[in-house]
Amino acid sequence: MEKSYLNSNPNEKGYFGKFGGAFIPPPLEKPFAQINEAYDRLSKSYDFLEELRSIRKHYQGRPTPISYAKRLSDFVGGGRIYLKREDLNHTGAHKLNHCMAEALVAKYLGKKKIMAETGAGQHGVALATAAAYFGLECEIHMGEVDIIKEKPNVIRMKILGAKIVPVTFGLKTLKEAVDSCFQAYVAQADTSFYAIGSVVGPHPFPKMVRDFQRVVGLEAKEQFYEMTASLPDSVVACVGGGSNAMGLFSGFIDDPVKLYGVEPLGKSTRLGEHAASLTYGSEGIMHGFNSIMLKDEKGEPAPVYSVASGLDYPSVGPEQAHLKTIGRTIIATANDKESIDAFYKLSRLEGIIPALESSHAVSFAMKLAKENPKESILINLSGRGDKDIDFVTENYPIPDQ
Ligand SMILES: *Cc1c(COP(=O)(O)O)cnc(C)c1O
Repeated sequence: MEKSYLNSNPNEKGYFGKFGGAFIPPPLEKPFAQINEAYDRLSKSYDFLEELRSIRKHYQGRPTPISYAKRLSDFVGGGRIYLKREDLNHTGAHKLNHCMAEALVAKYLGKKKIMAETGAGQHGVALATAAAYFGLECEIHMGEVDIIKEKPNVIRMKILGAKIVPVTFGLKTLKEAVDSCFQAYVAQADTSFYAIGSVVGPHPFPKMVRDFQRVVGLEAKEQFYEMTASLPDSVVACVGGGSNAMGLFSGFIDDPVKLYGVEPLGKSTRLGEHAASLTYGSEGIMHGFNSIMLKDEKGEPAPVYSVASGLDYPSVGPEQAHLKTIGRTIIATANDKESIDAFYKLSRLEGIIPALESSHAVSFAMKLAKENPKESILINLSGRGDKDIDFVTENYPIPDQ
């Protein structure tokens, strides 16, 4: 029997085609090998999978529903638009899907602490939530600049009991926070677990986080079929690191369904004013894996920007790079302005305030629906927009109608 896509990707070395791998300093080789071996075992363990299933049902609020966006579809005047409601997860986004599972791996490994870096604070909040649930210590590295900018999330993490480590060197943002967290992890890998926040990083994280997000696609396929007696023609998700997109895509990857990833085009196509890594980037190694990334003249990771802070990363998960390269996915873009417009449209027409990240997917899906009036389109609504309302209303006035 031919092996399914998911069973044969990545290979044992963590490669999706030529992308992925593990480019790590020698002191981290052992801890990463240990995580890889443990995950291999746990992914087949009845106890582990059963505990994860129970947490998802009784704590996270899964399964999340699919909603038919009738008024939005009517407004667009084209195809039918459906929403997979990851905004209804506990803490308001899909990130908890992998954070709870990573913390569970840490627990099975007997670790006392989970640690990670965070940019806008979304991963930090989800991880601090998981740490509180399991009674683990939580250490979050965050740039001083981001600490000031993202105060509500910093307060949330502190309420949840996390320890924040301010990063005071370099530009004092996400890149330095990654370096700081890696360094701290080397010294305490025996007792700590490094929980990466998307389908990025060295092997086995791109595979592991994808597997933990797969629940979204599995649920969606069954729910969509129950609602419509067919598969969607297209599925659409925003791509930062690529985890919410891989979650939804993995449910349909062996089916005749078009898979669209939407990258943030920010203010313009000029380098530094967007974060569309797959669209404008080239092959390169960063943060321990080979993928497609945005580089400056010196070949270093380029500065990136998006109105949605969860999308501004200069690289992308290796599997996203692979799927685009083999033509299985189609990569599109939405800019700041289009995404803000979609943010307000979905709020007014459906009573759902989306995260700015998810608004990128909504914006592109509206275009797609208009061009394909006979088609059905399923969006991964990766998160709710409560976190964004101050920023949006201060910078983009609420429209009259
Ligand atoms: C972090 C985040 C994203 C981007 O991350 P992916 O790994 O690309 O999914 C998208 N949506 C929301 C709501 C987020 O918090």
